Amino acid sequence: MEPLTPEVIRSSFVNCSKGEAARLPLPAKLPSTRWAELDFLGWSDPGAPGAAYLVTPWRGELRGLVLRVGNAAGRGGRKNMCTLCLTTHSSTDVTLMVARRPGAAGRNGNTVGTYLCTDLACSLYARGLKRPARAQPAETLSEEQKVERLLENLDTFVRRVVT
Ligand SMILES: [Zn+2]
Repeated sequence: MEPLTPEVIRSSFVNCSKGEAARLPLPAKLPSTRWAELDFLGWSDPGAPGAAYLVTPWRGELRGLVLRVGNAAGRGGRKNMCTLCLTTHSSTDVTLMVARRPGAAGRNGNTVGTYLCTDLACSLYARGLKRPARAQPAETLSEEQKVERLLENLDTFVRRVVT
């Protein structure tokens, strides 16, 4: 993705108030971010463990989502798998993250939840730049195909939240 400034990041949020967007913690290492390796900027703040943030270009516009961090996935089923990059993790490395929908829907308590890599490093897993702790099921997809799949899943997730 293209490099983003703090101002642009803050103005991208669609599911929180302007005040929240102005106050939320930005990634500590923003200046050294390797943007070319990212499909989305995802981060959380150790000082505010209940929230995570995801910013990505979506259909020509930058969209920022505040995510409420739920429980770690626990055991069993497909809950150990990130729904964006499909990396399989131990249960603590996948977390239920819940986005409030923008506008009236969100004010009425309408949310979209999904299981994501706790570290939000999906872009790096898809590119083989970060290795998950667990051995992965064998896949024949190329790195390019994995990135494509991540982009499709990301598109679906953002669409479910914002439309
Ligand atoms: Zn992931």
